[in-house]
Amino acid sequence: MEDCIVIGCGFAGSVIARHLAEKNKKVLIIERRNHIAGNMYDFRDENGILVQKYGPHTFHTTNKKLYDYINRFAEWVPFELKCMTYIDGKFTPTPFNFQTIDDYYTFEEAYLLKKRIKEYYNGQDKTTIVEMLDCEDETIRSYAQFLYDKDYSLYTAKQWGISPKDIDISVLKRVPVRLSYKNGYFDDEYQVMPKISFVNFFENILSHPNIEIRLNTEAKDVLEINTNSKFVKFDGKQVDIPVIYTGALDQLLDYKYGELPYRSLRFEYHTINMTSYQEAPVVAYPQEKEFTRITEYTKLPVQMKNITKIAIEYPLQHNLAEKTEPYYPILTDNSIGEFGKYRADLSDIENLFLCGRLADFKYYNMDQILEKAMAMCDIIDEWLGGH
Ligand SMILES: Cc1cc2nc3c(=O)[nH]c(=O)nc-3n(C[C@H](O)[C@H](O)[C@H](O)COP(=O)(O)OP(=O)(O)OC[C@H]3O[C@@H](n4cnc5c(N)ncnc54)[C@H](O)[C@@H]3O)c2cc1C
Repeated sequence: MEDCIVIGCGFAGSVIARHLAEKNKKVLIIERRNHIAGNMYDFRDENGILVQKYGPHTFHTTNKKLYDYINRFAEWVPFELKCMTYIDGKFTPTPFNFQTIDDYYTFEEAYLLKKRIKEYYNGQDKTTIVEMLDCEDETIRSYAQFLYDKDYSLYTAKQWGISPKDIDISVLKRVPVRLSYKNGYFDDEYQVMPKISFVNFFENILSHPNIEIRLNTEAKDVLEINTNSKFVKFDGKQVDIPVIYTGALDQLLDYKYGELPYRSLRFEYHTINMTSYQEAPVVAYPQEKEFTRITEYTKLPVQMKNITKIAIEYPLQHNLAEKTEPYYPILTDNSIGEFGKYRADLSDIENLFLCGRLADFKYYNMDQILEKAMAMCDIIDEWLGGH
């Protein structure tokens, strides 16, 4: 007989399950997919190439506590993700840096532009495209406009399925423009990949005698939620043990306030008879009409093969009927309001704990979800202490 139930065997669910198992609780994990590891799932294809099924993932954090946590369960190797963008037939680093200026300007123009940038930003190492577009210096502004027209506007519009003129400029603040030759997608102190695989990392987290996993099982097949009741029903019986739910709230409440909107992705895989397809593991193609990025898996991490494998990433609207995956929540006043209603409806259920990117209707990086899951463990401990 289990002492706790966790719905979802992704990062959030697995970390919480392990914590409870170490507290001597018997934990049952319910997972709808036929595999563990949630969106961090990876596998070896027929040619032995390690492929990440739900898009490219690298772990990065500034937080030593989180880095120490992942090191308990796997060996990690340093891996600084290098991304590039393909513009006008050339690869250039992303975030854009001084190399980008060299790539698209003549030697004299590039020299002057970099000098102007250094003087204007006076030692600052990065800025945002939004600030640059507003810059008083006309030469810098025209560089920003070049980047906006050739990349930011096209990529963002395609990613979110909107027209470039409808882009909320604030979303462009997330990707910096570097004001030096510094390369690399992230600045975090710890940037690593698992030495074996993400799935191996999950196997180690979940390898505990108190953890049982039931795959291919929908939450709704075993859970019953009545928002007027203080406890959840599991397998037809009311239970007062912690039930941790890491799935989507709209689904749990039968979409009574409507579907929470997401952007999804479709990956098209190609095995190619060459050792290298593109200049970086992840390359954005803003000028392509249909797809946004290509990931080359033999570069993530580096795998010495005489063939390579790429995944072309097509953004699309998430659609329940077509069983697409919900990847990026579309946050609008309306959707945030809808989510708030679902959350409020569930708030009186005492033994239901919500955690995870789906349950929070938020995009989280892996380190952020790890931190959330660890905080949730404290909340559950406190609750268990009072019972
Ligand atoms: C394309 C892409 C690339 C990314 N790259 C990075 C990166 O490079 N670095 C980084 O730090 N982060 C990255 N992320 C974010 C990372 O994927 C998330 O932080 C992480 O997966 C969140 O873990 P989670 O447990 O909340 O959710 P998930 O991994 O989605 O796990 C939830 C699990 O619950 C299961 N589940 C859901 N509902 C039910 C139900 N009703 N019944 C049963 N089971 C259910 C799901 O099947 C899933 O296995 C990326 C995300 C995307 C979309």
